[in-house]
Amino acid sequence: MNTKKDDSYISKRAAELKESATLAMSQKTRELKSKGIDVINLSIGEPDFFVPNFIKEAAKQAIDDNYSFYPPVAGYPELRQMISHKLKRDNKLDYEPSQVVVSNGAKHAIANIFLAIINEGDEVLIPAPYWVSYPPLVQLSQGVPVYINSTFDNDFRITAEDIERHITPKTKAFIFSSPNNPSGKVYSYEELKEWAEVFAKYPQILIISDEIYELINFKDKHHSIAEFEEIRDRVIIVNGLSKGFAMTGWRVGYSVSPKNIAKTIEKIQGQMTSGINDIGQMAALKALSVDPEDCHELIEMRESFRKRRDFMLEALSEIPFMIPNNPDGAFYIFPKITDLIGKSYEDTKINDSNDLAMYLLNTANVALTSGISFGSKECIRLSYATSKLQLEKAAERIKKAINLLK
Ligand code: PMP
Ligand code: GLU
Repeated sequence: MNTKKDDSYISKRAAELKESATLAMSQKTRELKSKGIDVINLSIGEPDFFVPNFIKEAAKQAIDDNYSFYPPVAGYPELRQMISHKLKRDNKLDYEPSQVVVSNGAKHAIANIFLAIINEGDEVLIPAPYWVSYPPLVQLSQGVPVYINSTFDNDFRITAEDIERHITPKTKAFIFSSPNNPSGKVYSYEELKEWAEVFAKYPQILIISDEIYELINFKDKHHSIAEFEEIRDRVIIVNGLSKGFAMTGWRVGYSVSPKNIAKTIEKIQGQMTSGINDIGQMAALKALSVDPEDCHELIEMRESFRKRRDFMLEALSEIPFMIPNNPDGAFYIFPKITDLIGKSYEDTKINDSNDLAMYLLNTANVALTSGISFGSKECIRLSYATSKLQLEKAAERIKKAINLLK
């Protein structure tokens, strides 16, 4: 067989797809660990907690009950019903189960949404800093990401005017996360209201609200932009079990959309995955049946994240040239690092946030993720979803390595 050895078999679209920076950094960490190097991984947003027992029991029960057949493509009816109930109970929002599609994590839910709504050349507005996967998933769907920049000094604020300035006749959607990954910013009710007032003027725009960090909010009651009546029928909510329930590996997420979009997502999913694994769905059914404000396991996880954030903010305040922001949610700190640009240690010069991430990995054996992957070259991202002991060690190591830079 005359098989070509070059990349000409790879589609242009796939060749242009960027690798996930968070997953790449974690993979690098795993490789170093397998060589016996003691690397502390603060690069990935993954809770270190185990899944609460009541959820594990539901999964075991599902196995015993012989949940082993192809699931309904959009999710088991009782799970879709439970998600509709959760939205009413926790968010005071009315959605029918037929608007819910259960997917293989929130990431898959977002990929499905873009495939369902984007035509070639459609623009998707993305406030920066943003979660790493939004732009590549827009591009994979042949859309064009359009960034709305914010700055560290302005607490990553995006005003209604900022949004309106970026709207063109090609704007199809707007996607954001609150609590935000990577900044930890929680957009206030008033900010969301201002945004909603702008979107009310542009009925062609869909608003994708990524609420995966809903349960990790230290400040306010969670607010969804879907609360604003004037745009509600154009909001698509994305959520999942990965963060709040510490179930990253179970891969359960969901979207809640206008009915015709939900139907389209179901069609796409039916061709691609035939639905989401049975056992995970039954575990999610149990997880979502509890009111998070009455669930001690969930409250303890949140309180533990809060303590780790406070600890890490204190520790970072002692590290020169890394200025931490003040995150109110998620489990990230996004310090400003511009004062480190241009500094060197031996023959390593820090030209940007990528260089700093590599320097800290090699010199301090601490993995962080460059802000560049999140659309912010001013910053670097640190996930504090790991034990206090690890955080203490990491802070010491980072401080030592930063002090070497001249
Ligand atoms: N959205 C944001 C903002 C995230 O940080 C993540 C990280 N996992 C996801 C979506 C995807 O989550 P999942 O594990 O449910 O795919
Ligand atoms: N969302 C997490 C992060 O930002 C997990 C990794 C990923 O899915 O990209 O680190």
